[in-house]
Amino acid sequence: MSSTQSVGSAGPRETHLMCPSAQPEMEGSRVLGVVGAPDAPQLAYLNQYLPVTEELIAMTQPAKATQVMRFAAPCQEKACCHFDGANCNLVTRIVQILPAVTEALPPCLIRPTCRWYQQEGRHACQRCPQIVTQVDDPDDRMRMAAEGDGLRMRGPREQVASTRDVSASL
Ligand code: SF4
Repeated sequence: MSSTQSVGSAGPRETHLMCPSAQPEMEGSRVLGVVGAPDAPQLAYLNQYLPVTEELIAMTQPAKATQVMRFAAPCQEKACCHFDGANCNLVTRIVQILPAVTEALPPCLIRPTCRWYQQEGRHACQRCPQIVTQVDDPDDRMRMAAEGDGLRMRGPREQVASTRDVSASL
């Protein structure tokens, strides 16, 4: 989890690949951006380094911080359920399942060390703004992207009640 100390507004010079959908309590976590409207999320990427503090987290209540912000932190690799030893399967699914929501690359400070970008290139960035780390009522595509194997897309006539209370973590 190494990084040097702060060097300007972009923040620490990271030497470890960063997860762009991290938890705020992770060591080295920083705010990546602010989620827009919950029903049509469009991440506003910060243009300055902002470390996570208890005060910042408290400001998001009663919402969970991961519902209203995205955080970036050093990739946990084998400690993360999405990592297969070489790749992040979460971003693989995101690129396969979710549509691009922008043609241009978002203005993002962590691109040089972003694991998603390193693995999937611009295809990850073109889908990144729609990602919310904690979604309480995910649609089918978002659930598939979050959870992967064992799930299938529901047909339009199938009951959705069984998934209404399910949340997704991306
Ligand atoms: S996927 Fe692209 S836009 Fe998203 S955090 Fe990584 S570099 Fe930034």
